[in-house]
Amino acid sequence: MNAFVYAQSINMSEEKFQVRGEICHWDYNKKAAVVLTFDDWTPGQYPLVVPTLKQFKMVATFFPLTSNIEKTDIGWKAAQATAKNGNELGNHTLTHPDITKLTDETLEKEVMEPVSQIEKIVPNNAVISFAYPYGAGADDQHSIEFLRSKGFVGARSVWGMSDYSYNFAKEDEDYYKIHCYGMNESTKNSQFNAEVESVIKGGGLLTFLYHSVDDDLNSYHDSWYAQVKLDSLKEQLRFLKKHQDEVWVTTFGNAILYHREANCAKLRVQERDGFIEAKLTITNLEFRDLVPQTLMVPLTIKIYTDKKWSSVEQNGMSIPIDKQTDTYVQFRAIPNGGEIVLKQN
Ligand SMILES: [Zn+2]
Repeated sequence: MNAFVYAQSINMSEEKFQVRGEICHWDYNKKAAVVLTFDDWTPGQYPLVVPTLKQFKMVATFFPLTSNIEKTDIGWKAAQATAKNGNELGNHTLTHPDITKLTDETLEKEVMEPVSQIEKIVPNNAVISFAYPYGAGADDQHSIEFLRSKGFVGARSVWGMSDYSYNFAKEDEDYYKIHCYGMNESTKNSQFNAEVESVIKGGGLLTFLYHSVDDDLNSYHDSWYAQVKLDSLKEQLRFLKKHQDEVWVTTFGNAILYHREANCAKLRVQERDGFIEAKLTITNLEFRDLVPQTLMVPLTIKIYTDKKWSSVEQNGMSIPIDKQTDTYVQFRAIPNGGEIVLKQN
């Protein structure tokens, strides 16, 4: 029998004999996702944070006020350079209003003007993430519906109780109510570390929120608010680096996209003589309407097999094998990206 077997994030101990494939919870089968977000485009973010992230080979999400980008001498060139390093530029409105208090016309301008500015000047950066100024809107149905109708895949609120379990988004709208851990001058590195350790245990998503990053003694003074010293930020990145086998440090948009895709993708696997065929498809039509195919991020999948495979292709293109053991082969594939074929020779 070559019956297709459906599998999605299945508990292996219970379904040991039926499972042929599994969609991993996070990229490269890491245990948890951590996102660093930097709000408002405070003066230290470009000169200090961007090169530091590059030095640590990490990426983050910046939620600039586009009006603040335009106030600096370097202007949009800094935004372009930030995105070029793999960081995400999200949307935090034009001038930081409470979006629940705006007329429809002003809401449209405050949210959509930054989208067209960013996408025009930084064309490879799709604006799909939103951060509510003051956190206002995360509990407002009208704001959430507005963001969804404009193609945002998720939105970040402010400091609040976070659910670090993998099942943090029980409803679609929960993706538009993501809480974060706020960093400021009094945050100790031990607190940062404890949050990271908690999310590793929980298996979910941890989002940090930073504002000013300051290095007044050595290089650049960012006096705005909630100052985190550059040396502290570096310690925090070092801690993440130490846990890089367990933690996927990524952008807000990538983490949300991965989680949303994995939650509605189906993996079907069929083994024949000498090869395996697999299909990774998104069956949720609302999600298909929200996210264009070009924005889909790859999902890490495991196929349980005791045979050795020499190549994996998707849609005729070779894709790298991340890991191969006596019991499974692991690689990344794009949902709805065409048929996956594993070959032995
Ligand atoms: Zn802000």
